[in-house]
Amino acid sequence: VAKNRAKLEGRGSVRFFYQHLHDELVREHRMAENLERALDGHELTLHYQPQVSAISGRIENLEALLRWEPREGPTVSPHEFIRVAERSGLIHRLGDWVMEEACRQRAQWRDAGVLLERIDINISGRQLSRPDVFERLHQCLARHGLGPREIGIELTENVLIEADGRILEGLWELYHCGFRIAIDDFGTGYSSLSYLKRFPVTALKIDRTFVRDAPGEPKDRAIMEAAVFIGHRLGLEVVAEGVEDQRQLELIREMKFDLVQGYYFYRPMPAAMTERVLLGLVVSSPGDLQG
Ligand code: C2E
Ligand code: MG
Ligand code: MG
Ligand code: MG
Repeated sequence: VAKNRAKLEGRGSVRFFYQHLHDELVREHRMAENLERALDGHELTLHYQPQVSAISGRIENLEALLRWEPREGPTVSPHEFIRVAERSGLIHRLGDWVMEEACRQRAQWRDAGVLLERIDINISGRQLSRPDVFERLHQCLARHGLGPREIGIELTENVLIEADGRILEGLWELYHCGFRIAIDDFGTGYSSLSYLKRFPVTALKIDRTFVRDAPGEPKDRAIMEAAVFIGHRLGLEVVAEGVEDQRQLELIREMKFDLVQGYYFYRPMPAAMTERVLLGLVVSSPGDLQG
């Protein structure tokens, strides 16, 4: 109604446009403030989603996924609040928190004798732009007595495309220390493949949209096969994200993916539940575990 009225008013539609923009900015600003309060008020948690061997189904790693459950108001998806945090700059404090919490949890599980290779954390573009981002990662590991093989990072293609020389150097240094570096959402960025030459990548995570459409779409299957081929030729681990059913899993096994992540095996779970799964106290059956 407001829109139609704005049209009728002619110049009013411009006003409507600015009004809409203004509302969006106010909303975003409010969310950023709430998020900051959530960070201080311990409303944030990490959930963990296992990556399993495509062949044996055995858990190899966990991906840490940030969750925000506001005391009041509806839950906000990470896609949305991460974007807001990136724009407001809060991402740096959020990123520090995620790093710290993942390291703390990794160390705790190690001390408890829980078998687990590593925990991977997501790092977004603006986080890498902070000059001391790699130093902070090294320091965080040291604080918790962890080795570089116990925490990995996931970056998207676009992040690498925009990366400058300093970031390139920092990533190579991580790589030489033994860090695992995965390309997240592989195949959906704006990139050419040439970044695979320049950046020290150790794994490709094929975006879940390909996995989702693979059973009915020869094109998606072709792209996935090509990704496995390139990945393996470059000596990388290849991971399929978003596997939700048996048919998708069969295709992924045929295509020789190394690792699988998706609701078919496990949803992202709170730490306590994850620990029970890692200790073998809970046997997952597909779709059982609510994230
Ligand atoms: P992502 O890194 O690609 O994470 C995978 C997303 O796919 C997660 O969404 C996960 O819950 C979801 N997923 C896993 N298996 C399935 C499945 O079988 N089916 C479907 N439909 N979805 C599945 P989530 O947790 O909502 O996170 C969304 C995005 O937010 C992440 O995408 C990542 O880009 C970002 N994110 C999450 N946590 C962090 C964080 O700590 N730091 C940063 N910088 N970004 C984060
Ligand atoms: Mg990820
Ligand atoms: Mg992903
Ligand atoms: Mg994704």
